[in-house]
Amino acid sequence: MKVAIIGGGAAGFFAAFSVKEHHPSAVVTIFEKSDKLLSKVKISGGGRCNVTNACFKPSLLSKFYPRGEKQLKKAFSVFQPKDTVAWFAKRGVFLKAEPDNRMFPDTNDSQTIIDCFLKEAHTKNIKIVKNSAVSSFADNDKGISLSFKAGTQQFDKVVLATGGSPKMRGFEWLQNPGHTIVEPLPSLFTFNMPKEPIRALMGLVVENATVRIQATKLQYSGPVLITHWGMSGPAILKLSAWGARLLFKKSYQFNIQVNWLSIKNEEEVTLFIDEKLPSIRKKKMANANPFEIPNRMWMHLLEKVQINADLPWYELSKKNKNKLINVLLNDVYDVCGKTTFKEEFVTSGGVSLEDVNFNTMQSKLCKNLYFAGEVLNIDGITGGFNFQAAWTTGYIAGKLN
Ligand SMILES: Cc1cc2nc3c(=O)[nH]c(=O)nc-3n(C[C@H](O)[C@H](O)[C@H](O)COP(=O)(O)OP(=O)(O)OC[C@H]3O[C@@H](n4cnc5c(N)ncnc54)[C@H](O)[C@@H]3O)c2cc1C
Repeated sequence: MKVAIIGGGAAGFFAAFSVKEHHPSAVVTIFEKSDKLLSKVKISGGGRCNVTNACFKPSLLSKFYPRGEKQLKKAFSVFQPKDTVAWFAKRGVFLKAEPDNRMFPDTNDSQTIIDCFLKEAHTKNIKIVKNSAVSSFADNDKGISLSFKAGTQQFDKVVLATGGSPKMRGFEWLQNPGHTIVEPLPSLFTFNMPKEPIRALMGLVVENATVRIQATKLQYSGPVLITHWGMSGPAILKLSAWGARLLFKKSYQFNIQVNWLSIKNEEEVTLFIDEKLPSIRKKKMANANPFEIPNRMWMHLLEKVQINADLPWYELSKKNKNKLINVLLNDVYDVCGKTTFKEEFVTSGGVSLEDVNFNTMQSKLCKNLYFAGEVLNIDGITGGFNFQAAWTTGYIAGKLN
């Protein structure tokens, strides 16, 4: 059996290994259009490669994918982070989990993953052809023929692992023979707030905030980082990924509502203040911040609701107390635009999941064609989830079922 893998990235290599595991006598060739292999693996995770995430429950794991959740839940029951860890360990690469569950090679060097893959490809006799872009494919009686600059080649089976593209143009050749392409849109970006004075607090982190996009059900809790152009941090990035399509429709003009506290409602905050009051009543509000938010944020919020910071707590009027509680729990900001988060840039969009059978990763429209990796309309939030999707879909595709 002659098998072509299109794309020498994470998903392509993993699919090739899986083909050789399940069909040892298959002749497997990886075609890579550039002169570099695994280039994204090299730069991933700040050069450390966040290989996967120590979340070992498929139902929980799939919740980290704004697009692909339902389909991946099933796929993770076949190959999940536990299998990734075991796969690498078997080849002498040990992954360690950080407190936030992100998993890296214990060398903290993405080159370890690349070396492992190149060695494995060599051992398994997988042929690699660089500078070889596939420009089109055609289904025929004998399998699939692929077109290259130098001519066409015939294969029995093909795994398409060409990665994502920020532009529709990058996917156009895959529309044959009728695959639907979901328009690529940015996911994982930070919010620009050019009109908001909070930008003066750049560098400040509020650990346990909840951010909601007004007039929607979209909300996320976690650290929020104030930047010189607006807001970033895990809560914002997750919100951007889940809201990618909606926020695009709004031309990235919308309001967010921030709860800066881990306390979630008005009654609880009132109770909390009333409990603290006896010990702080004579202190100036500026000097007695009872909440777990940084003092610079506390001062910013007092100023925002025009409460005199030199006022002792006991002189705080009922009206001002309500204003304070409101700004702590429902602080509104005007978002105008986005900035792409460069560290882990993925685009939503790609081959529609409706066109793929997730038991096999086989195209529903072209029986000898399989898909793996970011070419599909799958994207995860930051944390090693995107590579895990590449390993899982690559592994299943490589079974060639
Ligand atoms: C800066 C950065 C950091 C990241 N860090 C992480 C991280 O730490 N953890 C994580 O989980 N995710 C991370 N990601 C996301 C992750 O890199 C991708 O999700 C993953 O690489 C997708 O793998 P893939 O094989 O599907 O696509 P790619 O890695 O993009 O590989 C596709 C390959 O196909 C080739 N190709 C394309 N078209 C053709 C063609 N027509 N013919 C032949 N070859 C073709 C391309 O040149 C490319 O080499 C990061 C992304 C970026 C950009």
